[in-house]
Amino acid sequence: MAQSGPVLIAGGGIGGLALAVGLAGKGVASIVLEKAATLGEIGAGIQLGPNAFHAFDYLGVGDTARAMAVYIDQLRLMDAMGGEEITHIDLGAAFRARFGNPYAVIHRGDLHGVFLKACRASPLVTLRTASEVTGYAQDGAGVTAHLASGEAVRGAALIGADGLWSNIRRQLVGDGAPRVSGHTTYRSVIPTERMPEDLRWNAATLWAGPKCHIVHYPLQGWKLFNLVVTYHNDAPQPVAGKPVAFEEVMRGFEHIHPRAQSIIRHGSDWKLWVLCDREPTEHWVDGRVALLGDAAHPMLQYFAQGACMAMEDAVCLAHAMAAHPGRVEAALDSYRGQRMLRTARVQLSSRAIGEHIYHPAGAHALLRNAIMSAKSSSDWYDALAWLYGGTGLAA
Ligand SMILES: Cc1cc2nc3c(=O)[nH]c(=O)nc-3n(C[C@H](O)[C@H](O)[C@H](O)COP(=O)(O)OP(=O)(O)OC[C@H]3O[C@@H](n4cnc5c(N)ncnc54)[C@H](O)[C@@H]3O)c2cc1C
Repeated sequence: MAQSGPVLIAGGGIGGLALAVGLAGKGVASIVLEKAATLGEIGAGIQLGPNAFHAFDYLGVGDTARAMAVYIDQLRLMDAMGGEEITHIDLGAAFRARFGNPYAVIHRGDLHGVFLKACRASPLVTLRTASEVTGYAQDGAGVTAHLASGEAVRGAALIGADGLWSNIRRQLVGDGAPRVSGHTTYRSVIPTERMPEDLRWNAATLWAGPKCHIVHYPLQGWKLFNLVVTYHNDAPQPVAGKPVAFEEVMRGFEHIHPRAQSIIRHGSDWKLWVLCDREPTEHWVDGRVALLGDAAHPMLQYFAQGACMAMEDAVCLAHAMAAHPGRVEAALDSYRGQRMLRTARVQLSSRAIGEHIYHPAGAHALLRNAIMSAKSSSDWYDALAWLYGGTGLAA
């Protein structure tokens, strides 16, 4: 494809590397500029809807990604106060037949590694670390990424895949700091033998309680269990990955059922995040520069779709670049047009399900239980078809 230079990608997370792989599949060269000294991901889990598998296949990494995933049987919703199941969504044959792909969970490092391996295998991808992009300038012929080192790197396009605190977004949108949700999340990954035996379910399980919830699922061929517990304590400041003591984690969960509490007691090496998101924006593109993944549409994790959306973005952008050879600005506009509403819907719906499914109390929680327990798996498939049936490309 005629291209006046490589595509510059700020950020080598899941979104940035997925894009580099997608562009290489279209014959487009890219340079990934990653701020950190090494490329990698935090040691925790991630859920993959069937839409993630559509993306893997499009990006040519379907077999490798499938080999790393754990295929769970259910999405299970438990009442963290009463200790009983509210509902579950069956993820077996009927789910796969409906969406053409499974639902699975995977270790973040493994998922990132799938894309990293594909990038390293491609002569079209250049990976650079210790390369923080601070801003950009552009003219009719190309774009220049300015690095913190003072270096300037020239390309045909610049994609800001630089996450929640994106420098590219700061220049492109200028909408200030992310919104602090006040929800504090604690993460721990434990060996499976430390998980209470009667809770070693092959499910992504959510225990929903007043202003708090717990999520757990198996990882890495059942060697590990991923624990994610969240407390809506109106935390005022953003925090990322701060180690905390067990007592601090437990503080938000004194009021829930002992069975749910026991999950937290088995965690160790807890780390804390205060979650942030942003309002959706239609400003994703400035000439030859565009945003992707969390830089474009950071969301709370309640639909477990942030990384899935970043991979869908990568599919769509690679597709658009190939469909508009040599016309970068048209490609980026087409990409934005196809992605903006879908990702805005996931952003806003993630907030809504946090309020109405994950954290309600009292009558609000009883209403949740009544509505959700009345639904069959097939009702859930219909309700989720807009999300899981998508491929990242406009119909
Ligand atoms: C608790 C929790 C649970 C989650 N669970 C799920 C889930 O189950 N399923 C799911 O799909 N999603 C989930 N997510 C969301 C998912 O983690 C993110 O949406 C996804 O990682 C975003 O990927 P990204 O590549 O856009 O950004 P990031 O992963 O943030 O990557 C950005 C990269 O850019 C680099 N960088 C930053 N600034 C610069 C710069 N100026 N120049 C160069 N490089 C830079 C960073 O070092 C990083 O490597 C969860 C999130 C949280 C917080």
